[in-house]
Amino acid sequence: MVADIQDTIVALSSAPGPGGRAIVRLNGPNAFEISFTFFKPTDQQSAATSVPTTQYSVLSTGTVRRRYGGFLRFPDFQSSIPASLLAWPGPKTYTGQNLAEIHLLACPPLVDLLVANLLNAGARAAQPGEFTMRAFLAGKLDLPRAEAVLGIIEAGNRNDLKNALGQLAGGVTRPLEGLREDLLDLLAEVEAGLDFAEEDVRFVQPEVLLNRLAKGMAQVTLLSKQLEKRAVSGETFRVVLAGRPNAGKSSLFNALTGATALISSEPGTTRDYLTCRLLVDGVAIDLIDTAGWREQHTLIESQAQTLGRQQVERADLVLLCLEAGLEIREDERRLLTRSEPPAVCAIATKCDLAQAPANLPATSAKTGAGLDALRTLLADRARQQTYSSLASSLSRCRHHVQALLDHLRRSHSIVLFQEPSEILAVELRGALDELGAMVGAVYTDDLLDRIFSRFCIGK
Ligand code: GDP
Repeated sequence: MVADIQDTIVALSSAPGPGGRAIVRLNGPNAFEISFTFFKPTDQQSAATSVPTTQYSVLSTGTVRRRYGGFLRFPDFQSSIPASLLAWPGPKTYTGQNLAEIHLLACPPLVDLLVANLLNAGARAAQPGEFTMRAFLAGKLDLPRAEAVLGIIEAGNRNDLKNALGQLAGGVTRPLEGLREDLLDLLAEVEAGLDFAEEDVRFVQPEVLLNRLAKGMAQVTLLSKQLEKRAVSGETFRVVLAGRPNAGKSSLFNALTGATALISSEPGTTRDYLTCRLLVDGVAIDLIDTAGWREQHTLIESQAQTLGRQQVERADLVLLCLEAGLEIREDERRLLTRSEPPAVCAIATKCDLAQAPANLPATSAKTGAGLDALRTLLADRARQQTYSSLASSLSRCRHHVQALLDHLRRSHSIVLFQEPSEILAVELRGALDELGAMVGAVYTDDLLDRIFSRFCIGK
């Protein structure tokens, strides 16, 4: 259920745990009154026990935006705690309501004490995403922009961040702003025509209708293409094959990609690195075969190994090839146990020759055994990492954009084949409904719950 927006809500909105500074945010009609119950501006130190009503009543009038230096005082707690209060009176705030932030030392017991006292004084604990949901309900953000806030918080790479910022700036909804007005006008004209159908009065000529619908379809088609592009995270998942020379990396590379890297039983044959794009269940993976590790004898070999090492550093996943039947070496063990990225996943190779250890996926480039399972494993890892932070928002928007386009197409053909205007009005209304659902002009509590419950508390 969407919570009451007249409650004053409170949450820690900085990262939890010890640190430099904690920010506790209050939002709602009584945000200032409740904050000033415990926060005493420095010039009020002598009157620390009384609530400085003048402070918050001035703020509630909606003119003063201020930062106060001061301290916090709690009943049953001897010491004063240095803090500052930032006060933004509504309606010119993120949520449209009064917003207060108390900044204090990021000491978890102190923060808990403050939040507990604010709750006692009448605030309610904010639900996940409730601040942003209030911004949406106050008309400060449309739904795709509100979803972009989550996209920014969850962005896993620069490309995701760029897309989320673009969506927050209106990249998804702005192209459709004019369309809504135009469809409303068209619908009004078509419906007015229905009232005068007997007299054969036309409020809008078919050519004009066709033109305006075609323009709308072009806008929506363009947006649908842009949404497709955004759904894919910009970076392709990079998997680097690593392991000692002769471990079977090049053979595995060839078996997985169908390419023919140079294979030889002489150690050190792969002198450079090879890269090939694999598509597994629609997931793109760049597979990279590097030079095997061994002592360098020639300049080319040493350059190839440096290149190989750089590839390993830039990888999303290192696939460590361990030849079945051979003892694991110290450098291999080190790679397996290192804690910093990239992640390392070990597999056994040449399993047609020897038994693979029970804890490793068994593969054989020669017989093809285990390769399908390996492809699936790589695709799963890629999916986890390249999931765009905007994916659910974009799929919601894409669904509405597609339905909107279908209504526009049908409207166009109704006009073209001179079908009754009643059906045209139904299609235009359908198009407007889809548009409304996409930007959030029409929504259900369920939808809001689904979207905002994915946020963290305090955002
Ligand atoms: P790399 O140095 O790690 O790239 O290893 P290669 O792919 O060049 O393989 C080294 C040798 O092992 C070659 O003679 C391959 O034919 C052989 N080899 C590679 N994979 C397999 C396998 O799955 N089964 C068998 N029996 N031999 C393999």
